[in-house]
Parts: sequence; C-alpha cells; structure tokens
Amino acid sequence: MQPIVSKFGGSSLADADQIRKVRAIVAADPRRCWVVPSAPGRRHPGDAKVTDLLYLCHELASQGVTFQEAFGPVCQRYRQIVSDLGLDLDLDPLLNEARERITYNGRHGLSADYAASRGEAINGRIVAAVLGCPCIEPTELIYFNARGRLDEDRTYAAITERLAGLDRAVIPGFYGLGADGNVKTFSRGGSDVTGSIIARGVGAETYENWTDVHGLLITDPAVVPDAFTIEVVTYRELRELSYSGARVLHEDAVFPVRAAGIPVNIRNTNDPDHPGTLIVDSDHPQAKISYEITGIAGRKDFTVIQIEKSMMNSEIGFGKRVLEVLADHGISFEHMPSGIDTLSVVVADTRLEGKLDDVLAALQASVKPDKIEVDSNLAVIATVGRGMSHLPGMSAKLFKALGDAGVNIRMIDQGSSELNIIVGVNIEQYELAVRSIYHAFVSDTTTPRAVNA
Ligand code: ASP
Repeated sequence: MQPIVSKFGGSSLADADQIRKVRAIVAADPRRCWVVPSAPGRRHPGDAKVTDLLYLCHELASQGVTFQEAFGPVCQRYRQIVSDLGLDLDLDPLLNEARERITYNGRHGLSADYAASRGEAINGRIVAAVLGCPCIEPTELIYFNARGRLDEDRTYAAITERLAGLDRAVIPGFYGLGADGNVKTFSRGGSDVTGSIIARGVGAETYENWTDVHGLLITDPAVVPDAFTIEVVTYRELRELSYSGARVLHEDAVFPVRAAGIPVNIRNTNDPDHPGTLIVDSDHPQAKISYEITGIAGRKDFTVIQIEKSMMNSEIGFGKRVLEVLADHGISFEHMPSGIDTLSVVVADTRLEGKLDDVLAALQASVKPDKIEVDSNLAVIATVGRGMSHLPGMSAKLFKALGDAGVNIRMIDQGSSELNIIVGVNIEQYELAVRSIYHAFVSDTTTPRAVNA
C-alpha cells in the first residue's frame, strides 16, 4: 500500500471543529499515514492567524517591550482547542519554552523564524494527540544548507531513516534546521513545501493538500463568481497560471513532487467528498482534458517600453543591448513582443519604481532608437491550456471574444509551446476581458469539448 501524505492548511485547523473534520478525513483512508499540519489560521474574517501573532511577538521582543498582548491570544487559542477537544495534553511546558526563547532571540537580534515555527510545532503536538500517533520534530528531518536552500541529500536520507520504523506520524510543516543549527522556516505558506518534501521522501502515491476551497478555479472568483473548479491541471499549466496570478500552492511546493512524479490533490476540508483539483504531469493517465482551456489568470500594473528603430531587425545585438540595460538596472522583464522595426518590453511597475528615467536614458545611449514610448496602465492576461496546442482556431476564438466585448488588445504573446496565449489590455478592461474569455471557452461550451477523448 503506497502512502498518502496529507497536508492541512491553517483554516483546516483553526479550531476544534475543524480539527475533528481532519480526524474524520484521516480515518477515512488508511493510506493517509503522514500528516503535515500548518498553524491555526483564521476562524472568521478579521481573526488573527497564529503565525502572524508569533511574528508580532518576535517584533515586540526585539524592541525590548513586552509581547504578552500577542502571546496571550496564542496561548488562549491553543488552550481553547485542547479543552474543546477534551485532550489530556499539557501545553504549558511548550508555551513557556516558546516565551523564553522568543524573549532571548528578540534581545539578541536573532531571527524571527523560531517564533513563527512555534505555530506549527505546537499545533503538531495537538494534531498528533488527536490522531493518536507520534509527532516527529521537523528539525530532525528537514535540513537547509548554508545558502538557505534545502539540503536535499541530508533531508531525504533523514526522512527515510527516521520514518522507517513508523506506520504513521504527524510532521509539523513550515520549518526545519538551518545550517547554523537554528530553526529555519520556509517563506510564508511553507507548510505546503514540507508536505511536498515528505511526499517525495516517503514515495507517496499522492500528496493531498487540504484547504478551504475546492481546488484551483478556472479563473478568479472575484471576476467570475461562479467559475468552475479545474479538475486536472498539469504542473506546467499550474506554473503558468501561478505566475500569472492564480494562487493555490506555495511556488516551491511543486518541485519535489514533480521531480518524483507524485500527483498533488487539492481538497476541501469542509467538503471532503469533492474530488478537488488534481495536479499531474502531462503524461499521467488522468491528464484528460475537459475544456479547450484549463485556466485564465492575470495581473495588473505593467508598463510597456516600446522601442522603435528602422532596420532594427538587421542590427545584430540590438535585443541583447536592450536586455543588458534592464539587467544593469536589476530589472527582470515579463514579455518581449517584437515587430519588424519595434521591440517592446513589458515590465511589472513595481520593478521599475524609481528607475524608469535612468533606464530610458541608458536605452537612448545604448541602442540609439528613433523613438521610445512608455505606456503604463497595462494588465496581462494568460489563457492557459494544454488542450489549445495544435488546435487551429484557438487564438481566433479568443480574439473574437475580446473584440465582440469591445476590449482593445494592446499586446499579444504566444509561446511556441502553445500552452498559453497572453494578451495585454488596459487595466480598466481587465475584468471584462477575463469574463469574455471565460464565457467563450467555458460557460458557453454547453458540452465540454473532450479534446483528446
Ligand atoms: N503558518 C505559516 C504561514 O502562515 C506556514 C503555513 O501555513 O504554511 O505562513
């Protein structure tokens, strides 16, 4: 029996009721033997996440002021959960140790990682008590190297060795041991990464990521309120969609499982019968295609720098010099559509902040253009789908949908993989554009088109 690794996010563990749902989910499938919890999240809008409170504790401790106003609610939160669950678990030693160590770290200018990691460390003990299995300390499993990256060899060897004699265990997410011997966390949302590493380490059949939504939606529900959930998405599509603004997993969580060919299943703790979204490699048997497109994602606030120069196409090294100017100013670009005598670079506004005048002056000096125009107010929309590739008429359909809706397309970019079509539109037309594409490809398709059926 190949095991399943089940990671539960903060909203799935926010209070005793949620933790009971987790217990039922784990009990429903004997393959769910490795459980990775986050810290308790928000119980309702306006509520505080335990991790945020712990960062605040560190912040206050480093200013040398009392942090009880933040630590008190953390203690109360955990005690309430333990009491509501009727657990015989004394949290005082853990909470006292955390308080002392946060004070020490704050006073000595040490990092906030220890404080933040207590959210998962203590919650892990609670979840283990509920499930009746051991809680394994992540500093004995997850190792970082001196550059702050995962030390893969040491980590996977430790997972194999440490978990070998166990049938099941809880492994708190988000942190491990840094090269300096101190606790080190991943970036925010990093329990997803822990789950992925454990899944790879134990050779899981599936990595389940339990949260409070049904999965990845075809598009942003703030723009299309009744957007469907994506049934199956490939890792590459997910990467394109996440890059363009869709958010479902921590970015770094994809790599360990992808390397091992382990599918990720996003599931909803509040609706465990829903199959959720499955993330697989494109050659996986379940990578069937329901719609011509898989998802639509987008981001606002881009600027286009359009450079015009006649005979640019025969000027060797022109593009290289443009990109060198950007690189010299520490700016990465997003897209680079070009014409015969024009070349545009699309850059996120945040990257250009305070640098635009210098960049323009450097471009003038370096490529001596006939004209440079700067146009901000751009939103970029990526329509992504493995079903689009080699299928004639996809771009025509997309452009017609936008044209019919009166959306002016300011930029077009399609990678040769045909996995996506990217368009740039005025920010004011962003929502309209996304809705038009959604309706053309998804909701107007009464019968989903089984492209490879
Ligand atoms: N508790 C951490 C955070 O809020 C990590 C996680 O939940 O994945 O970022």
